[in-house]
Amino acid sequence: MSFSTLGLSQALLKAIKEQGYTAAYPIQEQAIPAVLKGSDVLGIAQTGSGKTAAFALPILDLLQKKAASRNRFVKALVLVPTRELAVQVEETFYNLSIHLPQKVKTMAVYGGVSINPQMMKLSGTDVLVATPGRLLDLIDHNAVKLSEVEILVLDEADKMLNLGFKEEMDRIFALLPAKRQNLLFSATLGGDVKTIVDTQLHNPLTIEVEAEASVPELIDQVAYQVSTEKKGPLLRYLINQENMQQVLVFASSIRTADNIVGKLKKNGIEAAALHGDKSQGARTEALKQFKAGKIRVLVATDLASRGIDIKFLPYVINYELPRSPKDYVHRIGRTGRAEASGKAVSLITPEDAHHFKIIQKKMGKQVTILPTDEIDLQGV
Ligand code: AMP
Repeated sequence: MSFSTLGLSQALLKAIKEQGYTAAYPIQEQAIPAVLKGSDVLGIAQTGSGKTAAFALPILDLLQKKAASRNRFVKALVLVPTRELAVQVEETFYNLSIHLPQKVKTMAVYGGVSINPQMMKLSGTDVLVATPGRLLDLIDHNAVKLSEVEILVLDEADKMLNLGFKEEMDRIFALLPAKRQNLLFSATLGGDVKTIVDTQLHNPLTIEVEAEASVPELIDQVAYQVSTEKKGPLLRYLINQENMQQVLVFASSIRTADNIVGKLKKNGIEAAALHGDKSQGARTEALKQFKAGKIRVLVATDLASRGIDIKFLPYVINYELPRSPKDYVHRIGRTGRAEASGKAVSLITPEDAHHFKIIQKKMGKQVTILPTDEIDLQGV
């Protein structure tokens, strides 16, 4: 469906066009008119569904009709689980707001970096995108006030809870005005998420989009049978053989991620690691260089990879399988996004075979497993 029928202003339609969005995604089609009308929304949707624009666009529109925010009193609050997602949500708000007649200031705040520069920049912020812990720190420093928040967004609510932010979220809810609009997005609707929906949302419009089943359709999946010792050489072989220029490799631990990066570099392949032991500066820089094509390989752990939003990422490699089938789908969903096709490769050891069968069963798709004995990995 075209964006022009959803009730958004011309200034937003212009920005949408410049972003290259031609048609509204299903979640946008349903959420935008509902949010504009002032309804609460519960979106069961994953990264890749277009959920960010689904809330950013109507919020920007609504803020045009309100008076500018008073210093420190933010009007819209978006809570997110990770720094990476915070930065990406801020970017979406910024990109979509550039033509608005009444300027909207969006700012992302997150932990892992010093708090002072964030406090200094906060003045006049309309839309605050925050991880829960850092937000509470800023509130304790008197740098932000939540008493005039009119719209609350809980983005990837299930992940926020999985990361242990429940207590922080409850503290934040208690600081918000009772009368407000609430938008909650989550890939799943289990236990604690359901409690939040029941206690914080008022007659929400529920929108469910089938991202999980539809994501793998665009993705060419393949697996290689390999022994643990040969994984490193096979990885290098695949990167070179297929001339992969931008590949996201998943490792299950920080140590493995660092080892992979070390070996790749030793063999002349530019690589960087993205994980929780890296400083925020190093993570942002690695992501920037990867996006710019200066680093061919980014090796990430599941947690650090959450919310990485790179358009048209062509390759994802599971150096190690994730424990849950859901994480597998989430990982490979990094490629084949926004209607572009991509390739997902998994390295399977004999010990992984059974687990990989379960993943395929849960996903409802069979993946071809190729042998590697014939591949010459000497001197790769
Ligand atoms: P999200 O689910 O918000 O992480 O968005 C996934 C990706 O889809 C992002 O790269 C967006 O820029 C892109 N996107 C969002 N909406 C549209 C649209 N209507 N048409 C094309 N791409 C879009």
